[in-house]
Amino acid sequence: MDMSIEGRAALVTGASRGIGKGIARGLAQAGANVTMLSRSEKEIRAAKDDIDTGGATGQLDWAVADVANAEDMRAVAEQVVSRFGGLDIICCNAGIFPQTPLATMTLEEWNAVLTTNTAGTFLTVQAALPAMRRQGGGRVIIMSSITGPITGYPGWAHYGASKAAQLGFLRTAAVELAPLGITVNAVLPGNIATEGLAELGEDYLATMTASIPHGRLGTVDDIAAAVLFFASPAASYITGQALVVDGGQVLPETLEALQEATEMAYAE
Ligand code: NAP
Repeated sequence: MDMSIEGRAALVTGASRGIGKGIARGLAQAGANVTMLSRSEKEIRAAKDDIDTGGATGQLDWAVADVANAEDMRAVAEQVVSRFGGLDIICCNAGIFPQTPLATMTLEEWNAVLTTNTAGTFLTVQAALPAMRRQGGGRVIIMSSITGPITGYPGWAHYGASKAAQLGFLRTAAVELAPLGITVNAVLPGNIATEGLAELGEDYLATMTASIPHGRLGTVDDIAAAVLFFASPAASYITGQALVVDGGQVLPETLEALQEATEMAYAE
């Protein structure tokens, strides 16, 4: 099976920390030349310097841009092409998840989340199209979530809507871009241990861990592995699909079902 992405040019948005940084490391360790992007030069440079490519041939570069700014994203796509000779893989990962009760949510708060998470995905894909069209193909991997497409969580009406909207975008984009040899797929993480998740507090992390059949939060490497698969030649016939990576979190009907599974597993 061909999982090789050596020498491919990749762009990962939201790569200064968390899942995006883990994806950048995973792709670079697999030999891709990776441009890491965030809005802060200080943070993205530090993240790039922090990555050990483990002796792989993949090189790292950084870019500063707001994914919700079309001009920024066009300039970044050109930067990747001029530095690495093409743009083969994009991972639309940048996202925000502030928590706000629906009763007091303002239109500004709603728009901020939809603009970064959903419009940012659209603008990242659109910016990459000229390069992918020229080279006759490419890979788009969108970072959605279980929240929205599958589950709900208090305070995340805007976030859930933005993550479900990414999947609506994905299905049409997959059809529209297939003639260009571009595949479009999504990863739906469960609860992944990142700086952003830690900001939700200890209670949130403990409750979530207790609701995951595999008994632990996900790691950024769990997500990077799924991205690497979609980016690889092995996945060339897969498009328009959404892969849940959550340790089974969405499966049990109740918390008691989890307890029962544990009791059955250890019963003689
Ligand atoms: P995180 O730790 O908060 O990191 C978010 C990254 O996005 C940072 O690098 C941030 O950098 C960047 N970013 C935010 N807004 C941006 C913008 N407008 N333009 C460019 N970059 C921007 O988040 P995470 O937990 O790694 O989550 C990453 C993605 O996975 C998100 O799309 C999130 O919805 C999704 N996800 C996460 C989890 C989880 O459990 N962690 C679960 C499901 C889905 P700057 O602030 O420097 O711009």
